[in-house]
Amino acid sequence: MNLESLGWDASYAEAFRPHEQDGLAPARVAAEHRSEYVVYSALGELRADAAGRLRFDGEHAAVGDWVAVAPRPDELRATIQAVLPRRTAFVRKAPWLETKAQVIAANVDVVFIVCGLDANFNVRRIERYITLAWESGAEPVVLLTKADLCEDVDARRWEVEAVAIGVPVYPVSAPTGEGLDAVASHLGDGRTAALLGSSGVGKSTLVNVLAGEELLATQEVRADDGRGRHTTTHRQLVVVPQGGVMLDTPGMRELQLWDADEGLSTAFADIDELTTDCRFSDCAHEREPGCAVRAALADGTLERDRFDSWRKLERELEGLRIRQDARLLSEARKERRRFARAMRNTAY
Ligand code: GDP
Ligand code: ZN
Repeated sequence: MNLESLGWDASYAEAFRPHEQDGLAPARVAAEHRSEYVVYSALGELRADAAGRLRFDGEHAAVGDWVAVAPRPDELRATIQAVLPRRTAFVRKAPWLETKAQVIAANVDVVFIVCGLDANFNVRRIERYITLAWESGAEPVVLLTKADLCEDVDARRWEVEAVAIGVPVYPVSAPTGEGLDAVASHLGDGRTAALLGSSGVGKSTLVNVLAGEELLATQEVRADDGRGRHTTTHRQLVVVPQGGVMLDTPGMRELQLWDADEGLSTAFADIDELTTDCRFSDCAHEREPGCAVRAALADGTLERDRFDSWRKLERELEGLRIRQDARLLSEARKERRRFARAMRNTAY
């Protein structure tokens, strides 16, 4: 297995150098299952677990991560000893009490935002995905699939281009081959791509035509299901024969907004720009005098739908922040109670 085709390069090699001296080997996380990982290394595919130290520190390897492993090639197993610094990361709020963001995919270079040119078409959803992509650090590219089913492809494309500032937008069609070259040009050797889009928009079809074979449906790994039995599961990181790596994890399919402030202002750079012209820096863009946002709405330079979409995302982020604060508060209370109890128990 060739590390370069998996995306390994000089700067990862540099980050890995300290681990080299410890006799560790570089590997990339290809799948994460309940009780173990699958990693790709120069020794081939290995099943791996995380060193206790990693688990203790709460450092969690995610699909796409480059890791330093202690390999046991004769058993086709390895132990993950360290996670190399990430270039990009998709994160979501962790379930239950954990306040830390959870990385669900790492080191993604390009995100294909896939939207069908049929009933699935929704500019607001595209805006939302663009926000997530910017926030992760990856470069977004919008693919409008099923172009063969659409009468006015250009009009739809312009509609998307008007909101997708600085983002390439391509109509594509699996049956006619339209746009596939453009998609391939963003993939390329060693680049890691991920797909975002509703179910049924043509994500697997796209990967399969790009790869020239049924990659997503056919590549499978044997995984331990935690009860000592082996079940067959899908790989979440797939090497495309013409170059490039496709990442497809369950977590990517259920992304939630998490601290996407920066992404929001990039995706809505036009509104962000307007807000700097409001007379008051804490303008809520409601009844304040000298509000540049309301002025733009009034004279039509800002579309009402786009404004509403921005508002909705903003509120969602605010909600997330409040929930997170509440969680922190309740944890602090619990900690205090634990402490008080411990004091009582030792003070007799
Ligand atoms: P996924 O859920 O996003 O992976 O979607 P699939 O790849 O499974 O595709 C869903 C359906 O859309 C399948 O019936 C495909 O054959 C169909 N489909 C995918 N791409 C195209 C396309 O470019 N044109 C047309 N007409 N149908 C497509
Ligand atoms: Zn304002």
